[in-house]
Amino acid sequence: NKRYIATPSRTKEILQKYRFTFKKSLGQNFLIDVNILKNIINHAGIDESSGTIEIGPGIGALTEQLAIHSEKVVAFEIDGRLLPILQDTLSDYENIRIIHEDILKADVHSVIDENFKERQSVHIVANLPYYITTPILMKLLRERLPVDSITVMIQKEVADRMAAEPNSKSYGSLTIAIQYYTEAKVVMTVPKTVFMPQPNVESGILNLVIRKEPPVHVEDEEYFFNLVQGCFAQRRKTLRNNLSSYFKGVLDKEVINEVLESIEIDGTRRGESLNMQEFSILANAFYRIQN
Ligand code: SAM
Repeated sequence: NKRYIATPSRTKEILQKYRFTFKKSLGQNFLIDVNILKNIINHAGIDESSGTIEIGPGIGALTEQLAIHSEKVVAFEIDGRLLPILQDTLSDYENIRIIHEDILKADVHSVIDENFKERQSVHIVANLPYYITTPILMKLLRERLPVDSITVMIQKEVADRMAAEPNSKSYGSLTIAIQYYTEAKVVMTVPKTVFMPQPNVESGILNLVIRKEPPVHVEDEEYFFNLVQGCFAQRRKTLRNNLSSYFKGVLDKEVINEVLESIEIDGTRRGESLNMQEFSILANAFYRIQN
């Protein structure tokens, strides 16, 4: 019976051996529960033939499980102190490559080309550093990487926003940004006790299945995402009022009302009641007026 890295005793042993001190600024909260890792892996939909990419391997808790359950793991770690530790803790596995790099600066496209086979399914799996969850996910999605899914442990509240439905408290511009690229689901809520040290917030496992095509047609993606943000700028206000502020000095109230009438969207609704389809119609109509 193997003693996995993701156990309290083995983790403590490794930390002591290397006198490792956690850097809060790098979001270092290591997983010490193998069952949680197996849950992450099951929901990620990987098998022995999959390629996997990990962000932030830490001392290797998740990396080890990915090495066991997939064909190859490539992991990006920013903290140089962890490299010699990983070399030691993962020495039993030959299908792991660690890259010492900030994921936000990495050329992930090239890394995929260099490390995985042409038709291999590739999945991104991570217990993300919570201070940069959204920038990391948006970078990976905007770059339209050839990957099948992204499954990550993140702050529960953020996971809820990414997977939200219209007319709910969590629904907002982040929901639209994420769901434009993916089908999003929160698959599990995770207590603080499975981490060392324990974070201040509750966590959740978010599963994102990458869409082959966007769910709606938009004339200009940047224009669309900016306008959606504008519609949520003041959540208590009506759509019409948020649009007036957004287009202040650019479009008159009358023009805004005319556009809303022409697409038959009631300006007294709130942004949170519009679904993705309606936001796309709204953005395309204004885009055509302005271009
Ligand atoms: N995967 C390990 C686990 O589950 O025990 C560690 C997860 S810990 C929440 C986040 C990891 O991401 C840390 O190892 C941290 O050093 C690393 N990290 C933080 N910012 C990073 C960045 N910009 N690029 C790559 N890794 C980063």
